[in-house]
Formats: sequence, C-alpha cells, structure tokens
Amino acid sequence: MIPARLIETKRDGGRLDGGELRRFLHSYLDGTIPDYQMSAFLMAVVFRGLEPGELEILVEAMLRSGATLDLAHLPGPKVDKHSTGGVGDKVSLVLAPLAAELGIYVPMMSGRGLGHTGGTLDKLEAIPGFRTSLTLEHFLRVLEAERFAMIGQTEEIAPLDRRLYALRSATGTVSSVPLIAASIMSKKLAEGLTGLVLDVKMGAGAFLPDPDRARELARTMVAIGSSRGVRTVARLTAMDRPLGRAVGNALEVEEAMECLRGGGPPDLREVTLALAADMLRVAGLEVDPELARRRAGEVLNGGAPMERFLRVAALQGGDARTLERPGGLPRAPRSAPVPARGAGWVQEVHPVPLGWGVVELGGGRVRVEDPAPDPRVGFVLAVAPGDRVEAGDPLGWVHASSDDGLAAGARILEGAVALAGEPPEPGLPLVGEEITSDPAG
Ligand code: URA
Repeated sequence: MIPARLIETKRDGGRLDGGELRRFLHSYLDGTIPDYQMSAFLMAVVFRGLEPGELEILVEAMLRSGATLDLAHLPGPKVDKHSTGGVGDKVSLVLAPLAAELGIYVPMMSGRGLGHTGGTLDKLEAIPGFRTSLTLEHFLRVLEAERFAMIGQTEEIAPLDRRLYALRSATGTVSSVPLIAASIMSKKLAEGLTGLVLDVKMGAGAFLPDPDRARELARTMVAIGSSRGVRTVARLTAMDRPLGRAVGNALEVEEAMECLRGGGPPDLREVTLALAADMLRVAGLEVDPELARRRAGEVLNGGAPMERFLRVAALQGGDARTLERPGGLPRAPRSAPVPARGAGWVQEVHPVPLGWGVVELGGGRVRVEDPAPDPRVGFVLAVAPGDRVEAGDPLGWVHASSDDGLAAGARILEGAVALAGEPPEPGLPLVGEEITSDPAG
C-alpha cells in the first residue's frame, strides 16, 4: 500500500481497496503513517465522503483499536448520550447524573473541544483535580458505585478515535458525515451499551448546519448502532444559537451546576429533560414520552443528581467543594460587560464566532500538542434571539486572562450578536424530531 496513492484515489472520488484502507488505518495507529498523510486523507474524505463499505471498515478499525467494555454484570440498562457538537452544550454534565439517578448505568466516554465546539472533557477538567483519564479498573469502580462515570478516549479504549479526533480538530476536517459518525459510534460501541441516544445538532453552530445533512448523519449513526445490536435513537436539536448562556469551560460547569440545583437557563433544562426522557425510553424504563419527561423533571428538581455529581467528581479526583456553591470554581482575572451600541431586536447570536472566541481567549487548543486550555475564559450571554435591547444594555460579559483578551473578547461578542429594527423570524425548534431505525420513525 502506497499512502499517497490511496489518498489520491479518495481525492479523485475513486473506490478504496478494503485491505489497503485497513492497512492505512493500522499503520497510522502504529506510527508508520505520519500525521501529514492522515490529514490529507481526512481532507479528501471531507470532500468525497466514504462508501458504505469504507465507512464500515473505518468504524471497525476505530472500535477494534482498543478494548471494548463488557458491562453485562451490571444489573440494569446501560445507556449513554452523545452530542454531535455544539457551543454552550453542557448537557452531559447534568444528564449523566440525572439518568443515573433514574436507574440507568451511564458509562460516558466524551471528547475534548473539537473545532469551534466545546468538549465535555475540557469542561470536567475545569473542576480542580478532576481526572478524565482513568484506568479501566478505576472507571468501572466509579460506574459500579454511582451508576455513572465520565472519561475520555484512552490508550485502552478507542485510541484511534483519540488520535484522529485531535488531528481533525486542528486541521479543519471535522465536518463530514462519515468522519463524525465513525468517531462517535466507535467510542459508543466500545462502551458495552444496551442503548444510545444521539443529540444531533442542526443550525449555524453545528458541524453540519443544514437540517437535511443533520438528518443524514443521524440516520447513518442510528444504522451503525442498530446493526450492532445497540438500541439507538437520534434526536435533532437546535444549534442556530448557543445552548444556555455560558460559553467557556468553567463558566459552563457553573451553569450546569445551576441546572442541577433546579435552576439554570430554560433551554438547557428543556434539552436535558428531552434527552433524559429519550434515555428512559431507550432503557425500557418508561414507554410514554410525557411520563418519562415528567419523571426526569421531578428527579432533577429533587436535588439527588447534584449530590451524585459531587460524589462522582470526588471519586474522579475533583475538588467537589468548588462546586458546592456558585462561584466556587477558578475565575478569570478580568471580566467586563459588553454594552449594545444601539437599540434593536436580537436577530441572531451566532455560535461559531463565540466558540472560536473561547479558543482565541486561550480556552481551547489550536495545535494537537498544545497544553491544557485556560478553563476560566469565555462569555456569558445576556441576550438571546428575539430579545429587545436598548443602547447601553449588556449583550453579555467577557471573561479573560488579560486586558488584551478582554478587548478581543468584546469585539467577538459584539460581532456575534446581530441587531435589527424588527423582531426576528422564529429559529429552529429547540427539540426537533426523533430518528430511529424503524422506517416509520
Ligand atoms: N463528537 C465526536 O465524538 N466526534 C465527532 O467527530 C464530532 C462530535
């Protein structure tokens, strides 16, 4: 196999030889294929896609690159949720302890920030001491004790995704149905699940903004999961505006804790409860969607998921005291409001500049080898599409590590919020349709 020829074949839209593709992927994992050749291959896939047989080989190679968990000994349904990536999406931090409280085992394996989107691992690591890289034994101990645990891809589980994920983030090669599908499904299939709920984002801040492409991604992932015996459903949700108000790792953890205390922004709560209801149904613990949602809401308001999150944070090395009261996490040294220059109706709060803005403020990685990001920086929005603002009203707040950061953040926030003289058209439905393997669904 000559790597450059394989890359050229994909670049020109040809069909890859299955054996060569397998060797290419294995050789990348063992270090024989360098990052530059893999990057070129990934870019060719972004433009040309993968045939169904090629996708199957990619999923299989990623899944078999590490161990797969056997959780058959755990006495209950094993269901996880994964999002295709958004801005301000801190749902996992609320949903995992909530689902665990509802009787579901959640062996959650997440990712870091990817492109302009935030990652659950970076958010968790904003909690001082919290470790997302655990031995399998440690992970299982936490899962058995608390019914949920949260880790990243490791050298033991889904190592090929771990490497490709970081490379794609740094090379503009995320936005591709087969690459996203293989990345997500290889991790999820390694978890030993009985069921899976996929939160597929649509709208300007999603990797695939067009709802029809989001549907295609949803169907592709549902087919991969279902064909391997995992009951898989996908739920389309809106990402034409950020979810919640906070964008930035520690700020998002604070907001997730508010939600676990029974408060938090209504949109975050609504998406979380919709996905919790989906998890209950996929787990076979509830049939009626309305009842499932009500049950999830009652349990969230009861406060037990918050207690469970604090216990898991401590078991994974985190300083849970920083979460017990609002404002306990490390704060950026500089913060300031950004006032509206004129009056108007908020047409749009564009997620992409805010997501990249966090990276620019030092809250994300630009290169694969970059050190851990600064968890304290980011934005807290004061407005959402449809709001009326007067000149001087705050559009939001910037949290930065320096005065230069503060000025740059203010420009970014101002550029992300579009005002006009009349109210905007309604945005995408916050919680959209469900996609299942049932052709009628
Ligand atoms: N989440 C993942 O795990 N992988 C992707 O490619 C996109 C979102």
